[in-house]
Formats: sequence, C-alpha cells, structure tokens
Amino acid sequence: MALIVQKYGGTSVGSIERIEAVAEKIIGFREKGDDVVVVVSAMSGETNRLTALALNVMEQPTPREMDVLLATGEQVTIALLCMALIKRGCGARSFTGGQVRILTDESHTKARIREIDSNLILTQLEKGDVVVVAGFQGVDEYGNITTLGRGGSDTTAVALAVALSAAECQIYTDVKGVYTTDPRVVQDARLLKSITFEEMLELASLGAKVLQIRSVEFAGKYKVPLRVLSTFEEGEGTLISLEEEIDMEDPAIAGIAFERDEAKLTVAGVPDVPGIAYTVIGPVSDAGIEVDVIVQNAGVEGTNDITFTVKRAESDEAKKILDKIAKSIDAREVVLDKKVCKVSLVGVGMRSHAGIASRMFKALADENINIQIITTSEIKISVVIDEKYLELAVRALHSAFELGDPDYGKNPNQA
Ligand code: ASP
Ligand code: MG
Repeated sequence: MALIVQKYGGTSVGSIERIEAVAEKIIGFREKGDDVVVVVSAMSGETNRLTALALNVMEQPTPREMDVLLATGEQVTIALLCMALIKRGCGARSFTGGQVRILTDESHTKARIREIDSNLILTQLEKGDVVVVAGFQGVDEYGNITTLGRGGSDTTAVALAVALSAAECQIYTDVKGVYTTDPRVVQDARLLKSITFEEMLELASLGAKVLQIRSVEFAGKYKVPLRVLSTFEEGEGTLISLEEEIDMEDPAIAGIAFERDEAKLTVAGVPDVPGIAYTVIGPVSDAGIEVDVIVQNAGVEGTNDITFTVKRAESDEAKKILDKIAKSIDAREVVLDKKVCKVSLVGVGMRSHAGIASRMFKALADENINIQIITTSEIKISVVIDEKYLELAVRALHSAFELGDPDYGKNPNQA
C-alpha cells in the first residue's frame, strides 16, 4: 500500500468518455489498496480556447485576470472526474489549488510554488477518499489566483508528491513514455525503461517535449521518482529517477535530441582584447534573446570570430543588435545563417565510456554531414549542422549507437 500522485493531462481528460475511463483506471488503483491523489489538466484545447477569448477582449490581457480565467479550465475537470468516481461508488473530493493551499509567489501566469499545506489532503485520504486537485493553479498570500505557466499541471503533481512524500509521481499522457528520439523521425525509436533526471532535463530542453521542464527539475531536486506513461495503453512507461536507482548496464547513450529552428550568427574580425565576448554577447542577452552554443576562434591577425546560435525567430533582432556593435568595435562583418539545426547525444554513460565523441563524428562523416559547431558537457555532445541533414543525422546516430528497438516491426500491432 503506497501513496501515489497521478496526473492526467488534457488529452486524457479530453471528453466525458475519457474522464469516465480515467475514473475506472483510478478505481483500479484504489482496489489494489493504494492511496491516490489525482491532479488533472483542463480538457484538451480548453486553455487555448480561454486564451483566445481573452485576446478577443484585450490585446495584452492583464496577468491577474488571465489567471482567474485560465484557472477555470482545471476546475471543470476536477468536478467532472469526482462525479464520475462518485457515480461508481468511489469516494472522491475535488479541490482547487487555492483550497489545498498551494501557496505561490505573486508572479501571475508564471507563479512559483512556495509551500503546500498537506493537511487537508491527508485528512481526506484518511477518510478513504480519492483526492482530485486542479493542476496548474495556486494562490498567493493575498488570496489571488495564480497559474504556474503552460504545462504547469506536471509541476503541481510533482510538488504534491514532494509535499506528501509520495512513493511515485505518475504522469499519464498520450504517449507511452520517453523514447530514445522522436519516433516521427526514427521509426524504430525505443521506449526507455528508465532515464536519469539529468538526462531527461537535457532531452526535454532539447525538444523532447513530454514533460514541463520545471517539473523534472523539481522532482530531481527532491528525489521523487517520476514516471511517464500512457493513459490509453498498458505499460510501465518510463521511470525518471536517480542514477543510483537505474540499471547502469544500460547503454552509454540515453537518447538523441534535436532542435530545428536554430540560427547561427558569426561576428567576424573582432579585436582580440579582454571583455570583447561580453561586449558582443551582452547586449543580445540583455534584449532577452537566449544565446545557446557559443564558440570563439582565432581569426586573422589578432582578431577573433565569435559564433553562437539563437532561436531562428529571434535571429533578425539579434542580427540588428550585432550590426550596431560590430560597427562600434570595428569588427569585419556579421553573418547570419538561418538554415541550421542542433543535434545532441545525451547520456550519463558518457562519463564512463570513452570514444563517444569520435563515434558520433564518424557516424556523421560517413553520411557526409559537415559539422559547423561542436559543444560538449559531461553528459551531452551537441553539433550544429545544416538543417537539411537533420533527419539523416538523427537516424545515422540512432543506428550508430544501436539505440533502435530490436523488436520493432515484430509486433503486428505496433504503429
Ligand atoms: N491547462 C494548462 C495548459 O494547457 C496546464 C496543463 O495542462 O498542464 O497549459
Ligand atoms: Mg500538459
């Protein structure tokens, strides 16, 4: 008998039929003797619908009112799910974020959780009820409704699991778990049994958008095992946990992440003097543009070339800023290349396995893919390449590191 926190995302509660099915599922867990605290998202599309309504009224809706509006989405699902449970004879009680007292700071639309009062939930569980909590919302110290940012229900679930010392936090969604890479790019991508928090953070930030990144950070910090699994299909999903708890016989590489819409900026011929990297890059990040991979090379005669990547959507603005700076420091030129992407190999096993980088470069060389920039961290190697080779590169690496599902194609029911 354990206490588990389960979160059901928007598609899992996207219709009355699905809410009924989730109720059945929860009852199954209750019958096994587990205590269940459920967090739900708004029905799929609802948060977008509400946002569109707001934008019809006001171009830039005031954040406080936006939170009052958006929090209604989750309030609908907690009530409907409890009704579906009660109808089946299962005691259940719904709570908004404010009622549980998920206390947050005052930053509307992107609030951070400060504290959770677990008493109300624990009392309710003792009575034998299933507790259903609205995800994504909290309340500030003055009683104002706040929300945690898009995808924030994941964070609510993890925070509750921490506050209640739950055995596990299970995130039910519309995919079977975390894959070695995007199955739309590599057909035989393999479902990972387990992955470390660190690896998941790298994969999440690089585009494997299964979980809100903040929820993974949170779970890692407080060491709550997180499991991602499908609402619609049977299976154990993917356990996200501490390195110690994972079978390290696993291959060195957990997965391959990629980022499509990148752009590369090079400021060529900048004077080779102290402070120049700051002079060039400072104003770009001050403008709120996220600067990613950065390299500086020796250029001609006492000058350097500074190259970095930004999101493609922000690249024109970055170029404008750099053009000005280039003039003021007498740099030769600023070159913008909007046709690049980033591919990253991620795995904690890199720490103990030698030769990962050279194997990666060989796999790309064999496909004649030119690497423009390389960066490495302890558990990640990223390359920036021409965007037209993205799929090819991901597939080549996936097979070079033998990440494919050996059973792919054997099961006739497999998509
Ligand atoms: N309903 C919110 C959203 O769509 C929160 C969530 O689903 O996690 O972003
Ligand atoms: Mg979500």
